[in-house]
Amino acid sequence: MSRNPRLLPLLSGAPVDRLGRTIRDVRLSVTDRCNFRCGYCMPAEVFGPDFAFLPRAELLTFEEIALVARALVELGARTLRITGGEPLVRRDLDRLVALLRAIEVPNGAEDGESIDLALTTNGSLLAPLAAPLRGAGLDRITVSLDSLDPAIAARMSGSALPLNRMLEGIAAASAAGFAPIKLNAVVRRGMNDAGIGALVDFAREGGHTMRFIEYMDVGSSNGWRLDEVVPASEILAAIDARHPVEPIAPSRPGEVATRYRYRDGAGEVGVIASVSAPFCGDCTRARVSADGHLYTCLFATEGLALKPHLRPVADGGALRAALAGRWEARDDRYSELRGAATSAGTAVTAGRVEMFRVGG
Ligand code: SAM
Ligand code: SF4
Ligand code: SF4
Repeated sequence: MSRNPRLLPLLSGAPVDRLGRTIRDVRLSVTDRCNFRCGYCMPAEVFGPDFAFLPRAELLTFEEIALVARALVELGARTLRITGGEPLVRRDLDRLVALLRAIEVPNGAEDGESIDLALTTNGSLLAPLAAPLRGAGLDRITVSLDSLDPAIAARMSGSALPLNRMLEGIAAASAAGFAPIKLNAVVRRGMNDAGIGALVDFAREGGHTMRFIEYMDVGSSNGWRLDEVVPASEILAAIDARHPVEPIAPSRPGEVATRYRYRDGAGEVGVIASVSAPFCGDCTRARVSADGHLYTCLFATEGLALKPHLRPVADGGALRAALAGRWEARDDRYSELRGAATSAGTAVTAGRVEMFRVGG
């Protein structure tokens, strides 16, 4: 893979990895717990009632998460996305949003740069929380919505909660001023692929941006098989058949979705082709797990422990140096190397950290 000049550091002193990529986006996982059991992420057969999630004392506090985020902003990050697990199962999340909102870009006042603060949620607990999150300074919300058919949605999410709860969450987020809301659907062949058109209609009518994600071989538990992946080309054909689209340019380097606009002017739609057209060359994402490990790839097998720089007392300088050192050693490009591993149609998964843990 060639060095990508677009990703060279914008800040002097910002760390650059071995493939020329800077840190721009950070996913902060605030919990490894979730009230859903999506088969592609946390299948109920594996994550049953006896599964040992992280004990509370192991979780970073909101103050610790904000310290790590601040250090990453100093190293170049400009987007902070709160995720999980299901982030809204963690109480008082608006308090974390306020702490993250207070982080300023170094010299941002001079060049007009600010932090883009986002959240990814399954939407089931969102309705009462949307307005407080907005009030605390959250810029954007992404809601995962795999199907508009109640039976298929329940099958995909492994949850008995009615689909209406998620739809109410989306409506509350709209009412609170989040616009456009991104809606993420993981497409699994034979499961929800027939519902692509209905999701597109729903998003267009509500002024939301639908994003379809190829089913990925993350973690070690979902029993991923290549024949369940609906490639982006097929997803795009289904969208185009419903409402003709044309490609548009990425809004920024490192954007994961390939974007299209509806030819009738009714907004845009995205497809995330992480399996069929990997985008490691532009990957500027760092992930921090709920227990304070830095992961430099979604498919990593181990992370860098940050707690030694946070407890018993935080040392901002040592934390920044550790984060920078790990980033500079990074040469991750798993998705680009996946080809050989998946030629048999199944993933090589041994030892991989789960997506809900590493921060999806
Ligand atoms: N619980 C929240 C949610 O579902 O939105 C946030 C965490 S979840 C791990 C983040 C995103 O990862 C969701 O949009 C989910 O659909 C996606 N995801 C999880 N497992 C996936 C897989 N195997 N392939 C593709 N996307 C996946
Ligand atoms: Fe939970 Fe999100 Fe994973 Fe589904 S994708 S099990 S909602 S963390
Ligand atoms: Fe980034 Fe790793 Fe995904 Fe490639 S496989 S895009 S390096 S997270």
